[in-house]
Amino acid sequence: MTTHARKVAQTPAKTDHNCRLTFDDLHKPLNGLTARTAASHCLYCYEAPCIQACPTSIDIPTFIHQIGTGNIDGAARTILSENIMGGTCARACPTEVLCEQACVHNTDHSDPVEIGLLQRYATDHLMDQNGPHPFLRAPESGRHIAVVGAGPAGLSCAHRAALLGHQVTVYEARPKAGGLNEYGLAAYKMINDFAAREVDFLLGVGGIDIRYGQALGRDITLDHLQAQYDAVFLGVGLGATNALGLDGEDIPGVQDAIQFIENIRQADDPATVPLGNDILVIGGGNTAIDAAVQAKKLGAKRVTLAYRRGADQMGATDFEVDLARKHDVHVMLWTKPKALIGTDKLTAVTLEGTRLEKGKLVGTSETFDLPCDHLLKAIGQKLSETTLSGLDIASGKLVSSNFYQTSRSGVFAGGDCIKSGEDLTVQAVEDGKQAALAINLWLASAQETSHG
Ligand SMILES: Cc1cc2nc3c(=O)[nH]c(=O)nc-3n(C[C@H](O)[C@H](O)[C@H](O)COP(=O)(O)OP(=O)(O)OC[C@H]3O[C@@H](n4cnc5c(N)ncnc54)[C@H](O)[C@@H]3O)c2cc1C
Ligand code: SF4
Repeated sequence: MTTHARKVAQTPAKTDHNCRLTFDDLHKPLNGLTARTAASHCLYCYEAPCIQACPTSIDIPTFIHQIGTGNIDGAARTILSENIMGGTCARACPTEVLCEQACVHNTDHSDPVEIGLLQRYATDHLMDQNGPHPFLRAPESGRHIAVVGAGPAGLSCAHRAALLGHQVTVYEARPKAGGLNEYGLAAYKMINDFAAREVDFLLGVGGIDIRYGQALGRDITLDHLQAQYDAVFLGVGLGATNALGLDGEDIPGVQDAIQFIENIRQADDPATVPLGNDILVIGGGNTAIDAAVQAKKLGAKRVTLAYRRGADQMGATDFEVDLARKHDVHVMLWTKPKALIGTDKLTAVTLEGTRLEKGKLVGTSETFDLPCDHLLKAIGQKLSETTLSGLDIASGKLVSSNFYQTSRSGVFAGGDCIKSGEDLTVQAVEDGKQAALAINLWLASAQETSHG
């Protein structure tokens, strides 16, 4: 796979006028002139491959053409009609392996159109106006849908269901909406409280009520929801994190990378987030890179990322691995942790080399001790199965039909908790949108049946 080079600002975090540490944008936003120049690069391709490569099927050439002709609000509406979280996706999508990877300019060895930055330019323009919501709801249907989880999947489902005229009540376990947009995406992707601003914008459609601090399995049950609502959508994500399976995982200094990122995202001043001197990140995906780069931006002296397989097997894109290297993160491939050293506090980690033997990953028995006082585990999330008892689960995900139905009639699901594609924000938004359309059809057919 070829990936094009993207320009990034490799700035450390800096202090604002209140002397708090703040993060800079990873990609500098376009202005009017640079946006028009970027838009003029688009060929308005027939059967545009960029549209096929976008999980939400945004009409990319049309919105780019609208920017080129000065119709920026129209461009934003084109984007948001397919992807109501087009603002977050413009910041967080790995465009280098999605739309920009598919752009025909890659085949003539020129740079692809800067689709992500153009999308951000249009959506930011519309949201900054703080005007009325760009879409109108259909007349009230008299139906009421419960959504569990206010992450990208749940909010996208809620928004589309509200547009279709249904009332929606969202049950969210945490005190804020946004899911990983609010708690998990790296601080340098979501500066200036963007996740919260986007939730406010999305709720502007009306008809959606969110109940915070309400967890399925603790405060509410599926039986209760099905008795009260016409349909239920589950967008609970992957709430549990995988463990290394080594002795001493509970000693101070060993932490889940996702918790480290959350602490940075939620801190008034990220400078107060505990940070070791010798940081070791274990993992090869998005989360590992985000944690390593943020640790470096926060001022960590030494950050090493250890991944047990080769570069080709890493979940992170080439762009992200480059980003880590450019921030002086030392990337070690074919290496896994073997033992955690320290009693009251982590002091070092024994690492072992790995290799493939008949397709199976094995340790080479070559080991060395790396001084380490802060280990960040980023080896993946998994479903919290206990909250979903009674529903079929296969390969660690909720079983769902092509129409987003779980094994329980009237209970739909989408986002990371089902297996629909990559675990990406854009996929969760698409799942939520499609599930709302499927629920709408299901409700209509249930009504027809009951009327004979
Ligand atoms: C650290 C990290 C970095 C990432 N970076 C990127 C990136 O840069 N770009 C990208 O595209 N994707 C990224 N991803 C993936 C992306 O964040 C997810 O694919 C996306 O958030 C999935 O959306 P979701 O709505 O399915 O789940 P989530 O975002 O996890 O939302 C689930 C919501 O459900 C709530 N919930 C859970 N259980 C219950 C319950 N029992 N009752 C009530 N509420 C509940 C949670 O509190 C949460 O609000 C990243 C993921 C991680 C972990
Ligand atoms: S593939 Fe590239 S050039 Fe063609 S329509 Fe999409 S963005 Fe424009």
